[in-house]
Amino acid sequence: MKRAVLLRFVVILLLALAVSGAFSYYFIGRNMLQHDMSAMLNTIHAVDYALDYEGDLQAQVEQLHAAAMDENSRITVIASDGTVAADSEIDQPDVMENHLEREEVQEAFRSGTGSDTRSSESVGKNMLYVAARSGNGNYVVRMAVPYTNLIDYILSIFPVLLLGTGISFAVSVVIAIRFSDTITTPLNEISAEMEKVRGEEPDFTFKKYKYKELNVISETTMKMAAEIRAHMDQLEKEKKIRQEFFSNASHELKTPITSVRGYAELLDQGFIQDEATKKDFYARILKETDNMTNLINDILMISRLEAKEAEVTFSTVRIGPLLSEIFESMEPIAADYQVMLHKECSPVAIEASAKQMRELIMNLVSNGIKYNHPGGNVWVEAWSENGKLYIRVKDDGCGIGREDQERIFERFYRVDKGRSKKIGGTGLGLSIVKHIVEYYGGSIRLESEPGKGSCFTIELPFRKRI
Ligand code: ADP
Repeated sequence: MKRAVLLRFVVILLLALAVSGAFSYYFIGRNMLQHDMSAMLNTIHAVDYALDYEGDLQAQVEQLHAAAMDENSRITVIASDGTVAADSEIDQPDVMENHLEREEVQEAFRSGTGSDTRSSESVGKNMLYVAARSGNGNYVVRMAVPYTNLIDYILSIFPVLLLGTGISFAVSVVIAIRFSDTITTPLNEISAEMEKVRGEEPDFTFKKYKYKELNVISETTMKMAAEIRAHMDQLEKEKKIRQEFFSNASHELKTPITSVRGYAELLDQGFIQDEATKKDFYARILKETDNMTNLINDILMISRLEAKEAEVTFSTVRIGPLLSEIFESMEPIAADYQVMLHKECSPVAIEASAKQMRELIMNLVSNGIKYNHPGGNVWVEAWSENGKLYIRVKDDGCGIGREDQERIFERFYRVDKGRSKKIGGTGLGLSIVKHIVEYYGGSIRLESEPGKGSCFTIELPFRKRI
């Protein structure tokens, strides 16, 4: 990759140097030519100033040329009719042809100065001619130097430009190597780190890089790896919980099955003759099967809630009528425990599953009755506040110790295992309540004091959970 980046960079660099070189060659060459022309004009003005046009022009021109100019240059003085009045190269200028048609001469008579490049008829070389009208306006003083073309000027500066281009090329290549390093090194490091994905548990470590985009890649990769790890941990945790749940559920079912089997065997073997004992055994068998049914129903309920069942039927559940219905069905058991039920409900309704709402309230009310004493009370309140539905189930029963308050929502956790089992508890009721509350994005709060009673407050947002 580094090589590809570098190669492209060098190609771009060469192109840029070629284009800028061509432009500079052309403009510098042209400037040099203009500079030479203006120097020639200065010389012409000096010659014009020095000449005495009344005297022997040829002699003066020859003298000036010999004294101040090199042999390559040539000075010609042309009169306004085009006749050559003096020439530094030719001894007898009067034999020279008329110069009036010469481009630079015409221009000089017309506008003061003129120039041209062409092959000289007199000396047979390619020449650069620069001419200017004399101070008295009757003559044109012309200077000529050998000149091939613009390329000559360009060639004269070529070594300097070549050196400059070479230095800038070398410096740019060094910078390009460094620059491509700053991109390719992090990318190489990132890709080497990402190779770890193939390993068991990728533990990425990235440096901080100069470019924001590269840091985004490394940070996102680290974030994604952390998320994947958290997800995997969560799956592992859930797997463990599920295993524990199955082993607990089997254990819970084993006890009633063993006792049912024991009673059935005793009855089957015909040892029990006494009718009253037989009846008691039948009653116990029925009670144990009821317990098993409760347990299986609770297990099914929990697994459905855990699977986030898609088929939950939502409807507008009016809490008042629901409470009346629950109270009616719980009245016999409340009477059994000699517990009074009270309700206070404002007309509130929530978009939810009626079955889940019933399960939620029934579990709390049933606990309030079961973990109470004769003459105790259970109060249920429902109201809406700040866009939320509140349901509070309060009792003046046995209460829950501080250390148990956290744990009672765990599956199969019971404060008093014997008591719970005796009254047909499964240890799953509050776990179901918690699941339902979470399903609706709500929360549950417990305040309790042993010997005084408990108060469960549920807060459910009204908006339907998607
Ligand atoms: P269970 O089927 O045993 O009632 P739950 O999950 O409903 O199971 O409750 C777990 C435990 O929490 C119960 O065994 C009980 O010890 C305690 N508990 C629940 N509700 C109350 C309450 N209102 N008063 C006192 N203890 C309670």
